[in-house]
Amino acid sequence: MSGKPPSDKTSGPWVDINLDAIAANYAMLRQAAPTAEMAAVVKCDAYGLGLDAVAKKLAGQNCKTFFVAYPEEGAELRQVLNAINADAAIYVFNGPLPQTIALFQRANLTPVLNSLEQAAKWAARSAGAPAALHIDTGMNRLGAQLSEVDAIAALSALNIELVMSHLACASDPADPKNDQQRNLFATIAKGFPRARTSLSASGGALMDQRFHFDLIRPGIALYGGSPFDVDEPRLKPVAALRAPVVQLRDIAPGETVGYGASFKATAPTRLATVALGYGDGMPISGSGRVHAMIAGTRARVAGRISMDLITLDITNHKNPIKTGDIATFFGEEISLFETAKACNTNAYELLTGLGGRADRRYL
Ligand SMILES: *Cc1c(COP(=O)(O)O)cnc(C)c1O
Repeated sequence: MSGKPPSDKTSGPWVDINLDAIAANYAMLRQAAPTAEMAAVVKCDAYGLGLDAVAKKLAGQNCKTFFVAYPEEGAELRQVLNAINADAAIYVFNGPLPQTIALFQRANLTPVLNSLEQAAKWAARSAGAPAALHIDTGMNRLGAQLSEVDAIAALSALNIELVMSHLACASDPADPKNDQQRNLFATIAKGFPRARTSLSASGGALMDQRFHFDLIRPGIALYGGSPFDVDEPRLKPVAALRAPVVQLRDIAPGETVGYGASFKATAPTRLATVALGYGDGMPISGSGRVHAMIAGTRARVAGRISMDLITLDITNHKNPIKTGDIATFFGEEISLFETAKACNTNAYELLTGLGGRADRRYL
């Protein structure tokens, strides 16, 4: 699938990825949920940060259980893990389709079954191979409906070793839907007494112990992104998005910047044009709103973000800025949370969007 190698290209943007910070977040989550097994969600190329490097780091922290979305991701992960821990469990959220059952078997992937139909087909083909069951407790997206659960439990050829559900409103710990889903899940899971239980992604993992069950499966928190509607200070930043200045210019009052001329100078203005654009994963919705750190001072984007370029207003910078200087769009001083918010999106979309042209540098 991805497997983008690290490179030494210096002409454009890159993402610095601090693998030790992933390990620190893993340790923090483990402490927050000490009674549960700590699995890791590494779908979508480890949220855009690189499956190979991230999975190796997590396996080195003694993580033995991984979740991905698609079986192809699982097969790639199996190859990565083979040399480290051939017994690691790889669960695939989306479960098997008729055309992917063989891939599940070949790569030794554990499907998450999401319906009676899927469960019956897996039972007929799998010869007792383990499976997980996702029970929908109110998300109405993926997972078996409550009306199907008894029939699934009655499938004697099925080997359900994990039952799980997913919280719809964990971004707000005070939302009453969290408790409703939690209580419903606890009740239904009793129908599978031999299976382990899992309810929580990052949000629930950082809520109280009633949400932890036997296994937590965080994703975004490992990568330094808050799962909540507010930033989460317990998380260490993992990724930093940086790009070089390629040109500088001064414009007079009345002049405009970029496509649509959406920025109009009201005073003499100094601009730095930076090699980063929406083609690298910086959303156009951050136009006029996103900030970057450059030479120790914040600068705001002036005008519309284009495919390969962003223009920063550096009028108030005391330190002179030169071509080749580096601007940081999130990382240490400006949080992933802040930049995502300025783009009207969240940490998940911002990180996974960086998987394309921007390079990766592992620290
Ligand atoms: C993506 C996903 C997770 C991980 O969610 P985070 O909010 O990133 O921790 C857990 N469970 C399911 C079912 C998912 O789809």
